[in-house]
Amino acid sequence: NHLFSLVRRGISDFAKDPAKTVIETHEGTRFSYSDLLARSGAYAAALVAAGVAPGDRVAVQAEKSAEFVFLYLGAVRAGAVFLPLNTAYTPAEIGYFLGDAAPTVFVCDPGKREALGTATASVRHVWTLDGAGKGSAADAADGQDGAAFADVPRGPEDLAAILYTSGTTGRSKGAMLSHDNLASNALVMVEAWRFTADDVLIHALPVFHTHGLFVATNTVLASGGTMLFLPRLDVKAILERMPRATAMMGVPTFYTRLLKEPGLTKEVARTIRLFTSGSAPLLAETHREWQARTGHAILERYGMTETNMSTSNPYDGERIAGTVGFPLPGVDLRVVDPETGAPLGPDEVGMIEVKGANVFKGYWRMPEKTAAEFKPDGFFITGDLGKVDGKGYVHIVGRGKDLIISGGFNVYPKEVETEIDGLDGIVESAVIGLPHPDFGEAVTAVVVGGAGAPDEAAVVADLEGRLAKFKCPKRVLFVDELPRNTMGKVQKNLLRDEYKGLFGGA
Ligand code: ATP
Ligand code: MG
Repeated sequence: NHLFSLVRRGISDFAKDPAKTVIETHEGTRFSYSDLLARSGAYAAALVAAGVAPGDRVAVQAEKSAEFVFLYLGAVRAGAVFLPLNTAYTPAEIGYFLGDAAPTVFVCDPGKREALGTATASVRHVWTLDGAGKGSAADAADGQDGAAFADVPRGPEDLAAILYTSGTTGRSKGAMLSHDNLASNALVMVEAWRFTADDVLIHALPVFHTHGLFVATNTVLASGGTMLFLPRLDVKAILERMPRATAMMGVPTFYTRLLKEPGLTKEVARTIRLFTSGSAPLLAETHREWQARTGHAILERYGMTETNMSTSNPYDGERIAGTVGFPLPGVDLRVVDPETGAPLGPDEVGMIEVKGANVFKGYWRMPEKTAAEFKPDGFFITGDLGKVDGKGYVHIVGRGKDLIISGGFNVYPKEVETEIDGLDGIVESAVIGLPHPDFGEAVTAVVVGGAGAPDEAAVVADLEGRLAKFKCPKRVLFVDELPRNTMGKVQKNLLRDEYKGLFGGA
C-alpha cells in the first residue's frame, strides 16, 4: 500500500489516457496525468539528490497550486514524509513548526522567503516553489529525468505525511500518517462515494489540511478523475464551474455562502452527482435549503486529521441532516462513558472512540499525549462527544472540551445553539461556558443577529419556554461575527478567553 501505487493505479486502470487532465487551475491552465508523473518524479529525484533519506521530512508552506500537489507526490515517491503548513502561519509560527518537525527541505512561495528571515535557519535546504532560477524547486528538479524515477519503496506502516491539526482547541499537534492510513482511506472513499475517472471535482479547499489534501485530492487521484482548483472559497468561480463538474467537497461555509447567490439553481447544479460537507457541523437548515434550491441532499461526513474519514452518510441510502452517517468499512466506532469507559447504548451521549486502518500512528514527538489518547485495546479517543441512534447513524454533539457543566448538570452547546439559530432574525450562535462563582460554569450565548433580531431578554424568554432552566443562557451577547479559523470552525477558546470575567468567576 505505497500511497503512490494508488495514483499509478488511478492512471493505468481508470484515467487510462495519460494526456487526461488531472488539475485545471484557477487561471485555466491544464495539467495532465503525464505532467503529474514527470513533475512529481523530477521533484522526487531532486529531493533524493539533495540528500533526503527515507523518513526525512519535507515541509512546505505555499499557496495552492498544481505544483504543490506534484511536490507532495514527489516527496511521497522519494520516501520522505510530506509536511504541509497552513499558509496563514506567521514567520514565528513557521519557526516553531520547523523546529518541531526538523525537515531536511523546506519549500515556500518566492514572495515569502525574505519575510521568513531566521525562521528557516535550522533547515538544510530552503527552496521556493513556482519561481524559476537558483534556489527554486524547479531549478533543483531541472535536468532530472522525472518520468524514469523509481519510487523509493516504503512499507505500509512507514510515514507518508505529518499533518498538523487545525488548532481549534489549542496548539496544533502533528499527526503522523502512514502510507496505509492514507491509501486505505482513499480506497474506502472511492468506493463509498462511487468516484470514477469521469468525475470532475470542484476543489476550493486548502491543500494544507486533511480535507483538501487527502479526502479530496487522494480520492480523485485514486480514481483517475479531474480536479478544478480554486485557490479559495470564491462563490462566483464555483458557480461558473458547476455546469461542467460532477462533484464538490466543501465545509459548511461553502454551502451557506453559495445559498446567498441568486445564481444557485437546479439548472446550474444539473451535472453534479455529489455534494459533500465536513470539517464542521452542517446546520440542518442549510441541508434543507440546499435540497430545496438544488434538488441535492448534501452528504455529510465526519473525520479528523488523526482519523482521516471515519463516517459518512450513505451514497444510496437516506442522508439524514444533523447526522454524519455510518462508520465506513474497516472503521470500528464506539461511544463510551467518558468517566468509566463503559460502552453506551443507542441514543446515549458519550465519547466517540475510533479504531481501524484509518487511524494515525500517534502525535509527532508527543509520546505522552499519544499514550493518553489511545485505549489499551487500540481505540483512539477522538475528543468528540456523540451518539449512535437506533438506525445506526452517528450524531456529533460537540467537542468534549466545549461541554458545559453548570450547577452539576451537563449542557451540550449544540442543543442550545440549535434552538437559538432557529429564532427569527438570528444568523448564528456559539454557546460557551464561562467561569461562574455559583454554577461553576454559566451557559453563555454569543450571537450574531440580523435584521429584526430579538434582544437579549426576548432570546432568553423564548428559550425558557423550550429548554430546561439549567440549559438556558444566563447572558446573550451580540457580536458582528464569530471568530473562525481557516477551515470555518468557530474558535470557542477565543470566546471563552475574551469573556472569561463576565460573571466574576475564577
Ligand atoms: P485541534 O485538534 O488542533 O484543536 P481540530 O480538531 O479542529 O483542531 P481537525 O482535525 O481539522 O482539527 O478537525 C477535526 C474535528 O472537526 C473533529 O474532531 C470534529 O470536532 C470536527 N468535525 C469534523 N467533521 C465534522 C462534522 N461533520 N460535524 C461536526 N464536527 C465535525
Ligand atoms: Mg482535533
